[in-house]
Amino acid sequence: MKKWLILIAFMLILVGCGAGEQTDKTRVQIASSFTMVTDIVEAIGGEYVQVHNLVPSGMDPHEYEPKPIDVRKVSEADIVFAFGLNLEGGKHGWLGKLIRSVNLDESKYVEVGEVIDPMYIVEADGTEEPNPHAFTTPSNAILISEAIRDALIEKDPEHAEFYRKNAEAYLQKLKEIKKNYDEKLGQIKPENRILMTSEFAFQYLTAEYSLKDGYLFAIDTEESGTPEQIKNAVDFINEYKPPVIFVESNVDRRPMETVSNETGVPIFERPIYSDEIGGKGDEVDSYLHYLEYNLDVIYEGLGEE
Ligand SMILES: [Zn+2]
Repeated sequence: MKKWLILIAFMLILVGCGAGEQTDKTRVQIASSFTMVTDIVEAIGGEYVQVHNLVPSGMDPHEYEPKPIDVRKVSEADIVFAFGLNLEGGKHGWLGKLIRSVNLDESKYVEVGEVIDPMYIVEADGTEEPNPHAFTTPSNAILISEAIRDALIEKDPEHAEFYRKNAEAYLQKLKEIKKNYDEKLGQIKPENRILMTSEFAFQYLTAEYSLKDGYLFAIDTEESGTPEQIKNAVDFINEYKPPVIFVESNVDRRPMETVSNETGVPIFERPIYSDEIGGKGDEVDSYLHYLEYNLDVIYEGLGEE
């Protein structure tokens, strides 16, 4: 009888800890704001880091309600990685509130987007906000990955050589992807160089590759798909006549369907990815696949010369 009680108590402890989330004190404890940053941290940090991802795939990184486990992981973290540039809503956004609520030491907080020269979204009232979607280009991916490598080395210099080697392999892949972007996007003919999406998420990409940017709404937290936004989009399409328009994997398709019906310009059959990568088993299950996949979609949609 006693043995059974001990066994049950032991099992309760195991269940209580949650096997998957058990803290391994020998590894650098990391909390990371969203899937793309998490993916890079895991690629470079390997076996020496234990990463807790905050905003899961399929959820909006601009607005998020942290769970109790998120609060605990952030309070215990050696490094909290955020993307920054307003992705998590800035100082008054969900992550700003979360790190204040646990009194996180400032030295543990790293915004990887700090290394990027921001582009801005100009609101109707003239105010400017940084556009957070800097991770849509391979050039910025290289800068972000270097920032993550440097933060890991600073926190855990003992394994600097390991991080440097992993980062080198990762950066090599990014450089190959950048080469493909340069080649393929360069081949799209002038009259097709129009990237129309729901959210203004590809500003960095369109600026770097001289594509014309079209969108329904600036950022997917405000009213999305109002009659005025739809009218502006229809006018834009009638003026620039893109061969196809694109819908992101994580937005409501209906506003863009209305735009497509009104203009006769089809929605490209495969979704484009802006703010997320999918989980294991998805076609877009890593940040490298995200970059490769989007290039394929844009290149197929807008066509070659
Ligand atoms: Zn977004």
